[in-house]
Formats: sequence, C-alpha cells, structure tokens
Amino acid sequence: MKVFIETYGCQMNVGDSEVVLSILEKAGWSRCGSIAEADLILVNTCSVRDNAEQRVLGRLDVFLQEKKRRSGVLVGVLGCMAQRLKEKLLDNAAVDLVAGPDAYRDLPRLIEAVSVSGKQINTLLSHEETYGDVVPVRMDREGVTAFISIMRGCNNVCSYCIVPFVRGAERSRDPRTIVREAQMLVEAGYKEVNLLGQNVDSYCWVNPDDASDRVDFADLIERVALVDPAVRVRFATSHPKDISDKLLHTMARYPNVCRHIHLPVQSGSDVMLERMNRKYTRAHYLERISAIRTILPDCAITTDVIAGFSGETDADHEATLSLFREVRYDGAFMFQYSERPGTKASRHYPDDVPLPVKTARLNEIIALQNGISLEINSQCIGKCYDVLIEGPSKRSDAELMGRTSQNKTCVFPAGGHKAGDTVTVRVLSCTSATLRCELV
Ligand code: SAM
Ligand code: SF4
Repeated sequence: MKVFIETYGCQMNVGDSEVVLSILEKAGWSRCGSIAEADLILVNTCSVRDNAEQRVLGRLDVFLQEKKRRSGVLVGVLGCMAQRLKEKLLDNAAVDLVAGPDAYRDLPRLIEAVSVSGKQINTLLSHEETYGDVVPVRMDREGVTAFISIMRGCNNVCSYCIVPFVRGAERSRDPRTIVREAQMLVEAGYKEVNLLGQNVDSYCWVNPDDASDRVDFADLIERVALVDPAVRVRFATSHPKDISDKLLHTMARYPNVCRHIHLPVQSGSDVMLERMNRKYTRAHYLERISAIRTILPDCAITTDVIAGFSGETDADHEATLSLFREVRYDGAFMFQYSERPGTKASRHYPDDVPLPVKTARLNEIIALQNGISLEINSQCIGKCYDVLIEGPSKRSDAELMGRTSQNKTCVFPAGGHKAGDTVTVRVLSCTSATLRCELV
C-alpha cells in the first residue's frame, strides 16, 4: 500500500510529515512520489495565513478528481487546518480522514476504520505528545541536512496568530532523545541538523526523576554541537523576548553552530507590538540585535514582519521601515496581515487597513529589504566562505548549490564535488538572494 504526502507551511510541518511517514511505514505503508501511484493521499496543512488554506482547498479538488479516476483512493487532511476546521473538513467530498498535529500515532487506526465505518477524525490536542521516540523518515533526497523537532506547540499568544490554537501548549522533548536522533543522523551521513520549535528560546526540560536536572536551549545547543564538531547545527525560531546572552555565548564557543539567527520582529512600532502582544518593545529588540552583533560579530540576522496589522498608521509603518534601515537584516520573510478566525485580534481588533494600503506597505518593505540584502551581499564579493553543498543548483546540473554558515545561498561550478561535501568558494557576483561563486 502506497502513501503520498504533500506538505504546506513551515519547516515544522516538513518535520511532522517525516514523523507521519515513520508511523505509517511501521504500519506497512511505503512512500511514493506522485498522487497517481498512491492508495492514500495525505496533505499536511498550514493555517497561518488565509492564502495557505486556499491553496490546500484547491488541491482537495485535484485529489477528488483522482478519487473519481481510481476507486479506493483515500484522502486525509493533517496539521493545522485539520485542527482548525475539524468536522467541517469532512463535508468536503474529497476528504476521508482528518488528523490534528497531536493525533498522528492514531493514523493507522483511522485509516483502517475508514473502510469499515466511513469518514474518520481525531483532533485531540495533547499536553504530553512530542513524538520523542519516533525516528522520522527523512524526506531530504540528498541526505545532507535534517530537521529535528525539539518542542511542540506555543505558549505565547501573539494576538494575530493561530498557532497556539492549532498546535496546543508548548512541550519540550527529552534532550536525550534529541541527542540520540542527532547521533543517528550523523551515523547516516548527515552533515547538518536543524533544531525546530515555534520559540526555541523557551525550550526547557526538567528531568522527571530529578528536578535539579534542567536543560535550557543553550544547554541543548551545546549537547547537540558536541555530537560531532564537523556537523553543522542550525535552529529556528528565536523569540526577541526570550533570546538569552547565555545562548549567544554558547554559540560563540562552538564554530559548528551556524552564524545565523532568525529573530522575527513583526513591527517596528511599539503601539503595534503592544497590540500584537509580542511582549517586547522596539528598544528591547534593538538591544538584543546589538547583543548578537557584539557577541557574534559574524552572525547573519533575518526576520519576519507583518504589514497592515489592525490599526497600523502611516507612522507605525514608517517605524517598521526605520527599524529595517537601522538593523539592516540579511533577509526577511514579509507578509501582509491576514485575519485568522478565533484569534484575539479577530475578536478585538478590526482588520481595518484597506487591502491596497496593506499591499503598498508590504511592497515598500520588500523593496527596502531587497536593496539592503543586495548591499550586504555585495560586501561579500571577493571574500571566501566555507559552503556545505546541498545538491545541484535550480538552473543546471553543472552547478552546485550550498549555504554558508550565515545561511547565504551560493551557486558555483560543480568541479567534481557532490552533495554533502564542504568546499571553500570565493564570491564573484551577487543578487539580493544568491551569491555566485568560484571554487578556490
Ligand atoms: N513562532 C514564530 C515566531 O514567533 O516568530 C513564527 C510562527 S509563524 C508560523 C511565522 C510567521 O508568520 C510569523 O513570524 C508572522 O510574521 C507570520 N504570521 C503569523 N500570523 C500571521 C497573520 N495572521 N497574518 C500574517 N502573517 C502572520
Ligand atoms: Fe505565533 Fe507568537 Fe507563538 Fe510565534 S510566538 S507561533 S507568532 S503565537
């Protein structure tokens, strides 16, 4: 029996799909590469913005056509949309089963039950589930870099955000299972591990047998960095209110911990930050940026920002632009505000910035950031970097693509090298997104 899984949304969803494949493989399923071969089509979904949900609804129409073409094909919706829409999804003619983010161990039972008693659903959220003992089936074909989920859920309540509602309360995984997973990945030849959580800085594990044995995120990074000094360690996402000097000093001690921090700011205006319930001010955020620059001078910094949140004035938008000019991010994920049903913002703060204004503000932020990224990348020209090769470049098999410790994408002639090798390159030219390099 063959399963095809399609994944939308963040890296954590990719990690979850790997957990799902592991659970299903144990139950006798094997993975296939297209819906045309599949007996079971799963879609792992994202609810963070409305357009992500619309894309999935469009895909369900395509899956329905496949079900009409080949009888017996089952379709399941997993992840955040499953959790948010619950039974409503079962009204969709394409959908046979719905499983929320904490219900994946139940998938084999749900699948069997569909053939006996029809459509099935499990959207129970858990306070304990971390899938700590599940060894994920890696989806990265080149076997170079792997995600490790170190925690699940989120205890923050940013007023615009659906995540706490669909992923439940924060739970940190036992560090011993995380280190074991990293060791297994190294033994399997992986060269980079990427530790994932909604707010990695609040990772905290207390040994149930000895309350004095307490592991925070800095301790965890150290344990993972020590698994193999030749293996790179990345992590995401950091939270400005929680990122500690202890973490920055630990990173500084371990050269294999990559010099890149993703520190979402969301807005440069204190009025908006308060309304967003982010629990920090612009001044605090800038102080954390300055701590990173002092302790880790070679560290790249990227961010997330939302344009057009409820009540955002021209002055608030200007504050975001001025913060971008001041910080000079290496890169940014930039979004326009999408109201999510059930969030505090949807109940208390009207979605009152007109769409054309949101879009214009977003475009202004994007244009500013693209210019800054290009300037920063231009300063790399002539310099040499160690690059971990991830595979062929998008454009040509004669070229390879890899990343610097700062997470900058480099493209260069293959020169007999392959995925998983680390090579030194010199930067020849750049765009705002890519460094074109030669091997040295
Ligand atoms: N946990 C991370 C954090 O606190 O930054 C990121 C979680 S979220 C999946 C990724 C990004 O989506 C957020 O940083 C935010 O910029 C964006 N986002 C979340 N809710 C949004 C909304 N309602 N509209 C637009 N963008 C949103
Ligand atoms: Fe959402 Fe805020 Fe939690 Fe990030 S920290 S997942 S933005 S509630």
